[in-house]
Amino acid sequence: MHELSVTSSIFEIVEKHAVNNHAKRVVAVNLEIGALSDLKNEWIQRYFDLLSAGTIAQGARLMITRVPAVFRCNQCQQLFEITSFITEELVCRQCPSEDVVMISGKEYHIKDMEAEI
Ligand SMILES: [Zn+2]
Repeated sequence: MHELSVTSSIFEIVEKHAVNNHAKRVVAVNLEIGALSDLKNEWIQRYFDLLSAGTIAQGARLMITRVPAVFRCNQCQQLFEITSFITEELVCRQCPSEDVVMISGKEYHIKDMEAEI
């Protein structure tokens, strides 16, 4: 259940940003989450609703976009993207090597947010 700690830090950033910009209300938050993150969208929204109750961000809608994970091949240094471990094989797209390392894919960040000023 690490959605709670992730959502908590997202909420803190959103609230701080809204207050600093003298917003009246946060309408929506655009989040980007790595394709291989196990964070569940519905839990993030659920926790956000709990945390934001009675604050400037109450009722804000989270728009979650999954961004592909990026891997690098240790043999030929080629970078390639993966959106799912289930439907895609974890092998280099340029050579047949399986000696690959994840560069990104589990991170999350706030892309932008909409607020009423
Ligand atoms: Zn390769």
